[in-house]
Amino acid sequence: TVVLGIETSCDETGAGLVAEGHLLSDALSSSMDEHARFGGVVPEIAARAHLQAMLPVVRTALERASLEPGDVGAVAVTAGPGLSTAVQVGLAAGKALAFGLGVPLYGVHHLAGHAAADVLEHGPLPQRSVALVVSGGHTSLLLLGDLARDRVVHLGDTADDAAGEAFDKVARILGLPYPGGPSIDRAARDGDPRAIAFPRPLTRPSDPPYGFSFSGLKTAVARWVEHHGGPGGDGVAVADVAASFQEAVADTVTRKAVAACRDHGVDTLLVVGGVAANSRVRALAEERCAAAGIELRVPPMRLCTDNGAMIAAVGDALVRAGAPASPLGLGADPSAPLTGALLTGPWG
Ligand code: ATP
Ligand code: MG
Ligand code: FE
Repeated sequence: TVVLGIETSCDETGAGLVAEGHLLSDALSSSMDEHARFGGVVPEIAARAHLQAMLPVVRTALERASLEPGDVGAVAVTAGPGLSTAVQVGLAAGKALAFGLGVPLYGVHHLAGHAAADVLEHGPLPQRSVALVVSGGHTSLLLLGDLARDRVVHLGDTADDAAGEAFDKVARILGLPYPGGPSIDRAARDGDPRAIAFPRPLTRPSDPPYGFSFSGLKTAVARWVEHHGGPGGDGVAVADVAASFQEAVADTVTRKAVAACRDHGVDTLLVVGGVAANSRVRALAEERCAAAGIELRVPPMRLCTDNGAMIAAVGDALVRAGAPASPLGLGADPSAPLTGALLTGPWG
């Protein structure tokens, strides 16, 4: 079965085609540039851009796979979590395509998509793994069983900002361009990660072992910059601040992820989501997993940030597991908790 995956939860309009665990094609359109001057994604602008890009992106994905619409055997679409108005555009398109083509619809959880992205590169997941999801909207540690059969345990989440959000906000403080993650990653290359000892939030023994918090770290950076002459001031070496902040995030998330594996007797760690594209997060995860005898799986960069292929990968897993399709009355769920990959909504 060829599965068409559709993703519109944020500012990326994605369509991807997957069959039997194999990536056939992927197409993407981003409204990122339109949000840059606002310093963050504007939901209304994102929704409008999705509406314009949706069908052309689907057509491009089909063309790249040399397939026709009639070759699609199932449609998988992000039903949440994400920006409500943005999710609704993709969901409406997915429903219309499934209805028009007479194929089943699968409403999928966006975070399951981030995890499933890795399957396209490294093959099926083992029976148990730990997933560190570090993205623009989430920072979570998950104990993954069979994604398609709803076997997911939430070990911990961020109490405030997500890791990607922290990157974006700190970039703003430093006057680096949006999106902040890649900007900080680039700036940090010339900096000293030990120049400034920023806090490692929630790493004391009495803290929740799998909990995260980044708003205090962001404030610590803001205060440090303020005390050193403000943004653009002579006292602020942007590269050192970027490298030191990046080190604090990478240190915290990889330390907790490896601990989660050890505590649960799991020997595979997945690091997924946009922040998994960060060079220091990748390097430190590699180092610590190697030392702990844990197999590390990180999707290639282009599959770390939002895309349609990862949603198709979840749909493919659901189809092959014989999961029930979602009803065509499926609604968007902007803050859906992750308990499994399939979102069936209030009518399910
Ligand atoms: P969610 O998946 O939680 O709904 P999202 O879809 O907006 O959120 P992603 O697209 O997975 O998030 O990731 C985007 C985030 O990843 C942004 O915050 C961006 O700054 C961050 N990011 C991208 N590349 C890097 C990088 N090299 N280093 C650090 N952060 C990065
Ligand atoms: Mg994005
Ligand atoms: Fe995402």
